[in-house]
Amino acid sequence: MSSPAKKRKRDDPGTSSQRTRSIASFFQGQASRQAEKTPEAPSEQTLSDEALARKLQAEWNQEDAASAAQTDGTSSTGPIATPLETGDNDREPTKVQRKGILSLQSSTGTEDTVSLAVPFDQNPTTFDIAKYVGELKGHWVAEGGDASYALLTRAFVLANATTSRIRIVDTLVNFLRVLIEGDPSSVLPAVWLATNSISPPYDESELGLGGSSISKALKKVYGLNSQGLKSLYDKHGDAGDVAFEAKKRQSFTLIKPKPLRIKGVYQSLKKIAMSKGSGSQEAKQRIVEKLLQDARGAEESRYIVRTLVQNLRIGAVKTTLLIALARAFLYSKPEGAEFSVHPQRDMARLKKEELAGIYSNAEEIVKASYARHPNYGDLVPCLLEVGVTEELLVRCGLQLHIPLRPMLGSITRDLSDMLTKLQGRDFSCEYKYDGQRAQVHCDVEGKVSVFSRHLENMTEKYPDVVSLVPEIRGEGVSSFILEGEVVAVDQETGELQTFQILTNRAKKNVDIGAIRVSVCLFAFDLMYLNGLPLLDRSLRERRELLRSLFVEIPNRFTWVKSLDATSADSEVVLDFFKSATDAKCEGIMVKVLDNVSRSDLEPNGTPAVDTTDTPEQPPRTGEKSESKNAKGSRRKALLSTYEPDKRLESWLKVKKDYSTSSETLDLIPVAGWHGQGRKAKWWSPILLAARNPETGSLEAVTKCMSGFTDKFYQANKDKYAEGTPNVISRPSYVEYYGEPDVWFEPQEVWEMAFADITLSPTYTAAIGLVSDERGLSLRFPRFLKVREDKSIDEATTSDYLAYLWRKQSERTKLDGDRPAETQLGWQEELSVEVG
Ligand code: ATP
Repeated sequence: MSSPAKKRKRDDPGTSSQRTRSIASFFQGQASRQAEKTPEAPSEQTLSDEALARKLQAEWNQEDAASAAQTDGTSSTGPIATPLETGDNDREPTKVQRKGILSLQSSTGTEDTVSLAVPFDQNPTTFDIAKYVGELKGHWVAEGGDASYALLTRAFVLANATTSRIRIVDTLVNFLRVLIEGDPSSVLPAVWLATNSISPPYDESELGLGGSSISKALKKVYGLNSQGLKSLYDKHGDAGDVAFEAKKRQSFTLIKPKPLRIKGVYQSLKKIAMSKGSGSQEAKQRIVEKLLQDARGAEESRYIVRTLVQNLRIGAVKTTLLIALARAFLYSKPEGAEFSVHPQRDMARLKKEELAGIYSNAEEIVKASYARHPNYGDLVPCLLEVGVTEELLVRCGLQLHIPLRPMLGSITRDLSDMLTKLQGRDFSCEYKYDGQRAQVHCDVEGKVSVFSRHLENMTEKYPDVVSLVPEIRGEGVSSFILEGEVVAVDQETGELQTFQILTNRAKKNVDIGAIRVSVCLFAFDLMYLNGLPLLDRSLRERRELLRSLFVEIPNRFTWVKSLDATSADSEVVLDFFKSATDAKCEGIMVKVLDNVSRSDLEPNGTPAVDTTDTPEQPPRTGEKSESKNAKGSRRKALLSTYEPDKRLESWLKVKKDYSTSSETLDLIPVAGWHGQGRKAKWWSPILLAARNPETGSLEAVTKCMSGFTDKFYQANKDKYAEGTPNVISRPSYVEYYGEPDVWFEPQEVWEMAFADITLSPTYTAAIGLVSDERGLSLRFPRFLKVREDKSIDEATTSDYLAYLWRKQSERTKLDGDRPAETQLGWQEELSVEVG
């Protein structure tokens, strides 16, 4: 399994048709089968609890016997203990000599009341860590030693119960502290579970759970029939909530001598991911059932299922967890660790700003480490050993064959906006090619890895790029990490081809002899050379090394086309921009070349320290503004350095003007209405939503019926045909008050143009961010294209929408133009009709 982002991502253009399942599709089978439902033998629902328990026990015994016979090649002669009997979630069934092991108990009263009472959401400066660690350790010993899954569930429940990010962070901080001090070996599995992943993004592990596994398990374990399951799903719209309800209704359960442990659950997920080949679906199914059987209480069931469907919805995004880790290791360390921590009572005495300063320094270090080395499997053990120290960046920093998170560009309105922003700077304008970003790693042995923008391993996809390495690696280059854009290129003419052509390439096992889409790698950065990270060098220096040490091969490997300029060169820059768009590029990327502006040079020519406070935008696709720097952090003085995972103003994107507003949004189609007139056979308009990463919801932004071709409409109708898994019941996670005719399973991202962003009484996107009563919507929304390279987790966030609205308001004020707070009403309807 990977993070939800990884699971749903279609970073690879070649896999655009491969849709991953969403929560709703787990229940789809039931929906369609209802119609043809025949009278059944007494349904599980009609059995008494005891009869049901006996029936289940008999079935499990039978299955275990069959599976044991399959494994060891013998037929079973004696009873087989299910994990229920052995109390072990992870062990394979073993033969036992006992009989009559079935017993029942009320499902109430089985919950872990000790864990349920821990007030993780307190401020870490007042949280009584010693008391809770003492109590919990005693409790865990009685139950087998390791931290219980109930404790993690407790943290999830508290995080889910609030929209306050401070509280979510506090909850995670205190939870992590309890583990660091009480059971350090559970910290890593807890971090994987809290991030809804089991491996780093460049590792291929996927849960690969079939759509029916979870619904089957829910039916079996909680004694539901198909109709019961479907009506629960129709009511709740979230698989975890269905599990919660089902578990609550279950009045009796088989005795579970050993409760779920954090480690055990994580290991179960690993086992699910590792089950391959024939019989693997059954094996996975059994693990899912065991997890559900062993869940104590409805909340544990809810979070087990949310984990399995990879939609945890606790409002803790990646950055939140990194922040929580950083803060937790400021207060706590495992027994015997040698690094120093801050005594809680000292922290409690600090002024608010002082505490914020300490937190922010620690967070910078942990985030920087993760951006260079995005693997919790390495980060957490290092933290347990050295705490939050500069040593962390050395131990867990840039490493060959581990992709760093790429630096990102900020958007600009147009060329003049860009020129204003970079006044006084020397910058490089580069063609913004329309291909796939690639990070190429090569070690001294000549081993090559290629990673995508989203850190997926693409080495098998681009054997032709791999084969270029010995030729492009100039003399004196032993190891390197470089970055560029892979673009489909006509090998005869050198002409750039569209991104669409690149999508024809398969994702894996590409045979170098059978390649039909030839590509060229246009290199634009060098981050590591001969064992040394270059991130802190200026772009001018990195570029110089790249261009002088590597060797061009016509139409296969070259540098991005570029022009060095300053704000005074507007005409030349405009010509360059035009030449880029003429060459089928998306526009230009503009990058600051040096760490200081020329005006910052002291009279004697020595550079003064640049303390420019570079405002970071809320990321377009990712986390909240928590990535914003504390004032005076060391990073700000280094504008042209390579900043992994940062979206700074030292890289600016200037794209072709699509519409009145040069901004575009990446929205998720979530619902549709039956079209009228000529469009009666299609869905039109279509409802689009932005993401709220805090709540996990999708917030409706606009209806759109403009920019679609008839062919597109038809394809859309075929895709979201009623009766297919792509059309779902009203999902609880979409925020919209209206009643569309159909709800789409959220699965794709559309790039949308628009004229303005407006305050709206109808739409809920970004509500509370710019107005308490009104959300944000778009005037004259127009469909541009499907973003094949984006997953729904990378769609525009409501936060970003609010940011654009504020920017637009500022602009309007400056221009003395029409008020930006245009209210929606008839205008919105008009914009819907213009299509
Ligand atoms: P993000 O900035 O998050 O990647 P996005 O997916 O919307 O956002 P774009 O706005 O299309 O991406 O622009 C950024 C992408 O442009 C880069 O990730 C990279 O793949 C591509 N690109 C093309 N040419 C260049 C270049 N010269 N320098 C940097 N990136 C380039």
